[in-house]
Amino acid sequence: HLDRIGEIDGELHAFLHVNSGEALTAAAEVDKAVASGQAPASPLAGVPLALKDVFTTTDAPTTCGSKMLEGWVPPYDATVTARLRAAGIPILGKTNMDEFAMGSSTENSAYGVTRNPWDTTKIPGGSGGGSAAALASFQAPLAIGTDTGGSVRQPASVTGTVGVKPTYGTVSRYGLVACASSLDQGGPCARTVLDTALLHQVIAGHDPRDSTSIDKPIADMVAAAKAGAAEDLSGVKVGIVTELQGEGYQAGVLSSFNAAVETLKERGAEIVEVSCPHFSYALGAYYLILPSEVSSNLARFDAMRYGLRVGDDGSHSAEQVMALTREAGFGAEVKRRIMIGTYALSSGYYDAYYGQAQKVRTLIARDFAKAYESVDVLISPTTPTTAFAIGEKVDDPLAMYLFDLCTLPVNLAGNCAMSVPSGLSADDGLPVGLQIMAPSLADERLYRVGAAYE
Ligand code: GLN
Repeated sequence: HLDRIGEIDGELHAFLHVNSGEALTAAAEVDKAVASGQAPASPLAGVPLALKDVFTTTDAPTTCGSKMLEGWVPPYDATVTARLRAAGIPILGKTNMDEFAMGSSTENSAYGVTRNPWDTTKIPGGSGGGSAAALASFQAPLAIGTDTGGSVRQPASVTGTVGVKPTYGTVSRYGLVACASSLDQGGPCARTVLDTALLHQVIAGHDPRDSTSIDKPIADMVAAAKAGAAEDLSGVKVGIVTELQGEGYQAGVLSSFNAAVETLKERGAEIVEVSCPHFSYALGAYYLILPSEVSSNLARFDAMRYGLRVGDDGSHSAEQVMALTREAGFGAEVKRRIMIGTYALSSGYYDAYYGQAQKVRTLIARDFAKAYESVDVLISPTTPTTAFAIGEKVDDPLAMYLFDLCTLPVNLAGNCAMSVPSGLSADDGLPVGLQIMAPSLADERLYRVGAAYE
């Protein structure tokens, strides 16, 4: 995999940092343990992984795609990082992302764009485009992303790979640099459903260091993926979300989705159509709640504690140093969200914006709860179109936000979902993803249905 990175990553730019030495040492340790007759630490021991550059790592810089954290090497490992290491998984390096995970195309990275391996003029999705491109180009067999509004599922969809957003609270956020804390969730990515399940099993589980971590046993995702591989979905009820199809969706995406419905039927699933009326407001609610949390979380980048410091030459006050640093260290999209969030939380507008958005969030969670009274899983396309051209939407934030249409409701409700490859679009030959959604703490259903469909 290191050879493959050397061969192709100059063109794709999936990695921000390659950790060759540390990865080889970790791999050698697995070899040594196995040679001495020890049982491997996990079924994935020795299988290398690409880690999104938003998880802290003591042996590599963690930049979150931002100039603000250029060259910063954290003093501790994230729980996800520590779990990977304990499972004997060598970490190949850190992958490119939109700055602080805000974006849908990886074009908001301060370190340059990542290209989609299927067509290098196209975006690899975002914010976790680096992890997805690494998988799709066979630079890594496993990767980790984070999904705050779709950043695992949407890049998986446009690169023909598998990505899962686990139930909120089941993968620790300790050491995951915060974007929007009530939405952020780390998730496994791979090229097959079974590989994704194996990785899910490694990273999920209770962590006392994350106050939102759920202290409940994690179901056996691997067993569910293996059960699904028998391709028998009899007794499984699948709901098509009325609001997540139709107008604004690319024809090739819709025909792939209709074909997926037929396949699920052939495997024995019962298909019904379900309406989730408040999903139409998910985008509006998300793009108020997320910036609000961002404006608060990113206040920590104050030039005093860590990271960039600009203007500290004796001629500026502390406040001026903070302002100059934040001006120089944050990119345009991050600044836009901080401004929107600060406005939405301000005393005169709190009820009108943030308060309303929280109410809509509850209504969306209720739509899900009602739907799951009659179906086991819900499905939709993962994205309304296939990968768009690099540069196409950079000057149009609203068009960029609309690309997240199908993935946002799940984050707002704290549920789980998977994107699984659903063939190539008839219009442009690019990958399409099928989104499978399930209730909180029923992540194993994603693996059963995903493996049966795959
Ligand atoms: N595109 C979404 C945003 O910019 C997704 C973010 C994410 O999941 N990290 O907010």
